[in-house]
Amino acid sequence: MSNTATQYSRASELGLGQAKEDLPVRVPTSRRVTNLFAVLIPFAAVVLAIVWSWGHGINLAGLAVLCGMIVITGYGITIGYHRLFTHRSFQTYSMVQFFLAVCGSMAVEGPLMRWVATHRKHHQCSDVPGDPHSPHLHDSNGLRGLVVGLWHAHAGWLLDRCEPNMARYAGDLRKSRMLRLVSRLFPLWVLIGLTLPMAAGGLITGTWGGAALGLLWGGLVRIFLVHHITWSINSICHCFGRQPFNCKDESRNNVVMGVLAFGEGWHNNHHAFPSSARHGLAWWQFDSSYLIIRLMEKLRLAWNLRLPTDDMIELARR
Ligand SMILES: [Zn+2]
Ligand SMILES: [Zn+2]
Repeated sequence: MSNTATQYSRASELGLGQAKEDLPVRVPTSRRVTNLFAVLIPFAAVVLAIVWSWGHGINLAGLAVLCGMIVITGYGITIGYHRLFTHRSFQTYSMVQFFLAVCGSMAVEGPLMRWVATHRKHHQCSDVPGDPHSPHLHDSNGLRGLVVGLWHAHAGWLLDRCEPNMARYAGDLRKSRMLRLVSRLFPLWVLIGLTLPMAAGGLITGTWGGAALGLLWGGLVRIFLVHHITWSINSICHCFGRQPFNCKDESRNNVVMGVLAFGEGWHNNHHAFPSSARHGLAWWQFDSSYLIIRLMEKLRLAWNLRLPTDDMIELARR
């Protein structure tokens, strides 16, 4: 990898300027059990939704609430949790920060500070010991090794006994009283994220059955879909795809995940230029999160977008 790319992805780019000691923190058993239920309950809901809609399909109200909630919480993760808070790839007003942090929280992927700390550690130790969710740090080989690795990177890591030290990896965010509050109120945002689709389903159809469908599709099925699309970046995008940049890790650009994960699947690009607001660096690499950030810039809701220059991109190519 070129010097330019090395400098671009150095620790200070990841918000680790004021580094504290890198001591992992033990995860309480209660949280590991909660994480397990957060994986299993949406899965059970998907089975219920399939059984419920078998033969007559999902009704339009359920589909509309599902899509609306995927957009709100999915971009809350990609634009908010990831590009804004983890990598500081653009700047925006406090109110917009608050809105994006709440939208990301409703995706039920953990409180803001913990998500940011885990993801920054992933960038700091990509696919080497210390990476919280690499698919490549195990002893198995062959097909079994691939399955074991994919499972750990996808959801198995949620049951790990240790997590990154938040004082070290999210120290900058913890200086903001508002962000500390949003992070602490995580259970409230989860509850609102379930109540909103339930209310929408009830209002659209005017029935309690519609409210139940809204909760099922816009709440639980939506959580399942956004979870697994996000986790596929950790698993699929570190195993399958192209590597135009030599990042000294296993990150890959995956076309399917590029589209499905709102631009996050251009993951090798992202590891080469972590703080870039744009992950789809070529014209054909569709990156809907970046398009929204550009729209926010046009509306003067975002500024100081960080982007690599053409020279930096060319220098960093293999
Ligand atoms: Zn990665
Ligand atoms: Zn990242």
